[in-house]
Amino acid sequence: MPWASGWPSWPPACTPAKGGALRAAEIITELQSLGLRVESSLGGRRGGAGPAEGHTLVVQGRVFNAPSASPFVAGSPWSLDQSGGQPLLRREGRAVCPVELVGPPRFYGQATPQGVPLKQIALLHGRDCLASTVLQSCAFWEGPMRCSFCGIGLSLETGQTLAQKTPEQLALAARRAQELDAVAQVVLTAGGGVPAGSEIRHLAACAAAIKAATGLAIHAQYLPPPFERDQERLKDAGVDTVGIHIESLDPAALARHAPVKAGLGLDRFLAAWRQAVELFGPGQVSSFLIAGLGEEPESLLAGCQLLAEMGVYPFLLPLRPIPGSLLAEARPPEPGLMAGLYQEAAKILQAAGLSAAQSKAGCVRCGACSAIAAWELAPAELVCHPARTAAELRAALAIRQEVFVAEQGIVEHTDQDQADETAIHLVARRGGQIVGTVRVFPRAGRPGEWVGGRLAVAAGQRRGGAGAALVQEAVRTVARRGCTRFTATVQQANLPFFQRLGWTAEGEVFDIHGWPHQLMKADLDHA
Ligand code: SF4
Repeated sequence: MPWASGWPSWPPACTPAKGGALRAAEIITELQSLGLRVESSLGGRRGGAGPAEGHTLVVQGRVFNAPSASPFVAGSPWSLDQSGGQPLLRREGRAVCPVELVGPPRFYGQATPQGVPLKQIALLHGRDCLASTVLQSCAFWEGPMRCSFCGIGLSLETGQTLAQKTPEQLALAARRAQELDAVAQVVLTAGGGVPAGSEIRHLAACAAAIKAATGLAIHAQYLPPPFERDQERLKDAGVDTVGIHIESLDPAALARHAPVKAGLGLDRFLAAWRQAVELFGPGQVSSFLIAGLGEEPESLLAGCQLLAEMGVYPFLLPLRPIPGSLLAEARPPEPGLMAGLYQEAAKILQAAGLSAAQSKAGCVRCGACSAIAAWELAPAELVCHPARTAAELRAALAIRQEVFVAEQGIVEHTDQDQADETAIHLVARRGGQIVGTVRVFPRAGRPGEWVGGRLAVAAGQRRGGAGAALVQEAVRTVARRGCTRFTATVQQANLPFFQRLGWTAEGEVFDIHGWPHQLMKADLDHA
C-alpha cells in the first residue's frame, strides 16, 4: 500500500518552514497529542462522554478540544497564558498565537420546571453543538466487555448527569441552548441497550421531540442495529446524520479495547454503514477511527479508504485517555504520527469527494475532537469512487445504456449482464453530477485476476479527463484488493488512449458484435 512506508517522523511534519508560523492543523494536532497545561482554577470538563476532560479553544477560526487534566499533560510544552488581556498559547514558554476560550454556555444556568438543571440533561460540545447521552448506561459497563476508552458510566457515578433523559427534557434543553447560545446542531448518543437495539427507540423519540421543538440538525450514534427498520425509524424521526463507530479496523486492537464491537464483526458494521449511506446520504454517515489503541498505522489508513469509498466519513482522531476510564494512564499518539496520518487521510477524503463541510450534524460537523478537517485539501473538481447508493448506480447504468445501446448500438435493449452483480461500479463525479462509469470485477476461478470494462462517459463530458480518471481509479481499486493481473477488452479505436495510461496489448485483434476489440493489460506496478 502506498502509505505503508515513508512515515513522517516527529518533529518534521509539525514543524513550520523556517520563520513560518504554525498553522491551525499543526497546532491542534500537537495540542491533542501533547495536551495543554492550564492553571487548575480555569475549570474545564472532567467527566462524561465525548471529550470528557479538557478545554474548548478556538485558534485561527477552528474550534477544538485539548486535553488538560490527563496525567500526560504535565509534560506538554504547551501552556495557556491568561496573564494579559488576550489569552495566548505558549510552546516551551514562547508565544505562538492568540486563542479564544469557549466558556460555559448560558443555558447551563437554566432548569426544567421540576428543577433539574439543564446541564444534567445536555452539554455544549465545541462551540455550537448540544450533546447528550440519552441513556447514560451501557449493558457492558460492568464487566470485562467494557470498551477501554469509554467513560459513559463515570459522570453518572459523580451525579453530574441523569441516567435517562426524556424527550421532553431534551426538547427543552435544545430550545434553551438554541435561544441563549445559538446552538446549531444536536448530537445524541446512547450506550448499548438490552435487548440489542432497544436504545434506538429512545434515540428516535428524543430526536423527534428535539426536531419538533427546534428544527435543529440532529446526529445519532449507536451500535449496528439488529434490524433494518431501526435506522429507518431514526430517519423518520428527523435524524439528519448518524455515527456508527467501529473505533478501529485492526482486529486485534478492536478485540482488546472494544470486545463487544469486535464480537459484532466487520460485516455487521458494513451492512449498517451501507444502509445508513442509502438512507442519510454519502458524507452524512461517519465512524470514529481512534489512533493509539496499539493498532498497525496502516490499518487506520486502510480503514479511511474503506469507509471513504462507501461514502462514510472516517473521523480519524487521537486516543483521548479519559480520567477514570480503563485507559486513564495511556498517552495519545505522537503528533508527528498523527500529522502523517491526517495528511494521508486528507488525500483519501479528497479523492472520494468527502469533506467535513458537507456534514449537516455530528462529530464531523463539530470537529472538536480531531484535527482532520483542518488538514483537508481543497475539493477536487473531478472525483472517482465506487457507486455508494442505488441512485448513483442507476445514474452509472443510464450512461452505459446511452453510450453502448443508444449511441453505438453495440448491443440491443441493455448492456447489463451477470457480471454487474459482482462488479464494483466506479463513477466519475463532476460538480455533484455523475458523468461517467467503469466496472471492475474478479475473474471467476482465477484468484488475483480482475477484469475491467463498460467504460462510458456521457456525451458532452468527454474532453474533461473523466475517462482517464476512471481507468486510473479502476487500476488503483483492484490493486488495493490484491489484484495481480488486471485486463480489459477494449475497442480497437481506444488502443492509443489505454497505451497512454500504461496499458499493453495482448494477443490479436478480434470481433465482438462486429466491432474490432483488443485485450489489454494494466500496469499494476504504477497503480
Ligand atoms: S467531535 Fe463529537 S464528541 Fe467531540 S466535542 Fe464534538 S460532538 Fe462532542
